[in-house]
Amino acid sequence: MLLLVVIGCQRQTNTVKAEVVRDFADRPKNIVLLIGDGFALSQMSAMTYQNGNQSSLENFPVIGLHKATAFDNLITDSAAGATAFACGCKTYNAAIGVDSDTIPCHSILEQAEERGMSTGLIATSPITHATPAAFIAHEPLRTFNEEIAADFLNTDIDLFIGGGQRYFERRDDNRDLVKELKAKGYSVNSYFDTDLFHFRSIDKKAPFAFFTSDNQPVSAMQGRDYLPYAAHLSLPFLKERSDMGFFIMIEGSQIDWAGHAKDGPMMLGELQDFDATIWEVLKFAANDRETLVIVTGDHECGGVAIQPGSKFKKVELAFTTNGHTAALVPVYAYGPGAEIFRGIYDNTQLYFKMVEALGW
Ligand code: MG
Ligand code: ZN
Repeated sequence: MLLLVVIGCQRQTNTVKAEVVRDFADRPKNIVLLIGDGFALSQMSAMTYQNGNQSSLENFPVIGLHKATAFDNLITDSAAGATAFACGCKTYNAAIGVDSDTIPCHSILEQAEERGMSTGLIATSPITHATPAAFIAHEPLRTFNEEIAADFLNTDIDLFIGGGQRYFERRDDNRDLVKELKAKGYSVNSYFDTDLFHFRSIDKKAPFAFFTSDNQPVSAMQGRDYLPYAAHLSLPFLKERSDMGFFIMIEGSQIDWAGHAKDGPMMLGELQDFDATIWEVLKFAANDRETLVIVTGDHECGGVAIQPGSKFKKVELAFTTNGHTAALVPVYAYGPGAEIFRGIYDNTQLYFKMVEALGW
């Protein structure tokens, strides 16, 4: 009789849920860029430990680090950070899709559109907020929410889901952008009338907009739960919308807000929500095999430390600031082209690496 005795260190079993597929296409057809706002190594650690010592990030075979600096400041804000990712352009803090001379840059989303790909943006902030805005708008200041909303009409984005309905329909210039979107053929939907969970799928015939709040969506702790489902709904829709592939940016926006508020429980709630969203994307990508998935943050926020006395599932966070810090930010890549994302590089390189992966 064979008696199996385990002595000493037991080999940790890897508790991955998404199949790690190695026979990917040679080149990605699709890119899903997931940005956790204020999501750096401390936040990623907290996410893992709070979840019982595992996270979606453990499925990513390739890890790099980016240097999250701005043109005018060692420490970037989300506007300059997202413009670096979207355009490969080093710009000043508060800049939305413009370079350091306020000249509009050509974002990866706009270029994807021009190449016939379908495109999308999802956020847990107003959709006009800095991170999504930098992929679609060109404004000298991030506070120009109404101008940013109007910039959505200058594109043919196939899908957007997020807050900020007020910037589209209660505007100083009296334009009704919801009406204008509908006139352009969009299916425009609002939290006010319906729930994203009522959609079993999204009809590929029309571009799709869903407003999740009038201004800022509530936090995950307060019951906001649409982000993982939004990812689940959107990827098959974008895939069906074009034979040329798709680009989408999905943001866990409020990790950063928890850092600014120095609110540990709020941050843990946002991290759990973002982790669930990454899982949804991985499930799609593991089946699809033509999708490059990239997860990163734009910068650290809060100077977060996991406090002594913390335990698995009982993580206690402390904050050294209510602002951003300059820590290097991990980049995780999965799927065809992932290997390009190894190493330490400037945040602007994320754009060039995505372009290289797509073979543009
Ligand atoms: Mg953001
Ligand atoms: Zn911030």
